[in-house]
Amino acid sequence: MNGKTVMACIEAAHATLKQNMDEIALLDQQIGDGDHIFNLLRGMEALLAARGDIEAAAFGPSLDAVAAKVLSTVGGSSGPLFYSLLSGMSKCAKGQGMDVPGFAVIFAAGVDAVGQRGKTGVGSKTMMDVLIPVANRFRELAAAGASAQAVLDELPRVAQTQMLATRDMLATKGRASFLGERSRGHIDPGARSSELMIAAVCAHLAQHIK
Ligand code: ADP
Ligand code: MG
Repeated sequence: MNGKTVMACIEAAHATLKQNMDEIALLDQQIGDGDHIFNLLRGMEALLAARGDIEAAAFGPSLDAVAAKVLSTVGGSSGPLFYSLLSGMSKCAKGQGMDVPGFAVIFAAGVDAVGQRGKTGVGSKTMMDVLIPVANRFRELAAAGASAQAVLDELPRVAQTQMLATRDMLATKGRASFLGERSRGHIDPGARSSELMIAAVCAHLAQHIK
């Protein structure tokens, strides 16, 4: 795991966001202001342009470079939140093993940082409804000695189930909360983008790690 792997994961995330951009745009038009996918794609394009720096760095520093780029380009509420995820992971990466238990700890640290930044947990109809259950399941699988392939197979399923569960939730955080009861019946755009990126990164890694 190094900057090259991180860059390949960014490419996988970018591809899935591009492929699903109309759907994500619509979700944020329904319960937000419609900019979520464009915020993310702007960040992704800046990351692709910074390929050289990202690929040349070791794992932790490459995440730090990605986080800084995300903060300066993504904007919206989600920019600082995805920044927190990536910089929280980067800060924790030093000293962790590049294995299932190590990555479970690193991912959980990133999700904790999002929680501190956004001051929310599960049940508010946000990206946290995907991120927290995925981090929790990741830690459980690590504690049970699961293989990398088993983890990469299961986490996208957890993410999908939790993303779908945001449909019936009442939004109590972010722009969607302004809609009150009318926020119900629509999937949260940040939950969908997070789920898509988790699935794409897991699929990429499943094919490329032994
Ligand atoms: P904005 O709402 O400023 O237009 P985006 O459209 O880029 O920003 O992002 C919206 C997404 O951000 C939401 O769908 C939700 O998942 C996420 N979000 C908003 N507020 C929070 C929060 N406090 N904690 C976690 N995620 C949040
Ligand atoms: Mg928005």
